[in-house]
Amino acid sequence: MAHRPRKTGGARKTGTKGKAGSKPLGLLERLAQGPVICAEGYLFEFERRGYLQAGAYVPEIVLERPDLVEALHREFVHAGSDVVEAFTYYAHRAKLRMVGREGDLARINRTALRIARKVARSTGTLLAGDICNTSIYDPNESKSHKQARRIFDEQIEWAVEAGVDFIVAETYSFGGEALLALEAIKQSGRPAVVTLAIPRDGTTREGWNVADACRRLEAGGAAVVGLNCARGPDTTMPLLREIRAAVSCHVAALPVPYRTTAAEPVFQSLTDPSLPGNRAFPTALDPFLCNRYEIAEFGKEALALDVRYLGVCCGAGPHHIRSLAEALGRRPPASRYSPDMSKHILFGSDKRLWQKNLEYGRQTYGAAESAPR
Ligand SMILES: [Zn+2]
Repeated sequence: MAHRPRKTGGARKTGTKGKAGSKPLGLLERLAQGPVICAEGYLFEFERRGYLQAGAYVPEIVLERPDLVEALHREFVHAGSDVVEAFTYYAHRAKLRMVGREGDLARINRTALRIARKVARSTGTLLAGDICNTSIYDPNESKSHKQARRIFDEQIEWAVEAGVDFIVAETYSFGGEALLALEAIKQSGRPAVVTLAIPRDGTTREGWNVADACRRLEAGGAAVVGLNCARGPDTTMPLLREIRAAVSCHVAALPVPYRTTAAEPVFQSLTDPSLPGNRAFPTALDPFLCNRYEIAEFGKEALALDVRYLGVCCGAGPHHIRSLAEALGRRPPASRYSPDMSKHILFGSDKRLWQKNLEYGRQTYGAAESAPR
């Protein structure tokens, strides 16, 4: 496919193992050439499908239905993801303890990495390890820093053992916890992509503004810094501009595909009066879902700022990723089935269509085109 990055012809360092010339480009080389797409948000997708429980959000499906995890990775690659992120989000000690499965810690991590590796290596995409917010970090409790660091270290060790190309540290609302994760990744020698989930008030939970937080992460040696989760495209963009102006390294943006607003800037704050208690998060967000064209718009705007590590988080479906890829000028395999309304029974223009139906469509629904583009 035209969008697929070239294989290295020479002996340039790629950050991947293996003989020179035999591996696809590494993360930094791909970013030097242009955007890199990373699909995430597996938790929400499997929750919707009925294989994962909202609440603790532990990815037990990795052990129970590895076939489905592999299939979802493949769907996202088919739709244009350049990265297969191992499904180890919330597969850490503190979260597994929450569901009484701490004994499965090593097995769930190794299995998730093995599945992701299989898909990445068979599709020429990048394999990413994944660590995340620990839910036990307290900026004022040094004991919690040690516990968080242990969580990071053990997950990173399994990721390195699986031969990941880089490691994502994501969804931190404490800047200090993100820095701790970064230190742990740095020790592994793998490139680090560190993304913050900025809460309602627009700063990290300890009160750092995003520019400051990202500057610290860049100074700490992150290859890519930015935002993921929590905010939809509209409330991610203003913070993204601040980050882009503050750092010189690559910037990441992976919003949730929900219509957050200045008044309700994160998906946890979205309200729907039809619900008891009004809170739409996390299982009644459907009416706020962005359509694919909004995600495409976001991708173009972000890339215009030279934000190159792009994706969609909780709530993302393959149609969002395909739209993002197409907005960036790609044509992933799934584009074979991108819409062609010229063949629609009521709204089409194809000569083989039945005129009576087209006339009925015009009379009933008007002559306007049905899709924005
Ligand atoms: Zn998310």
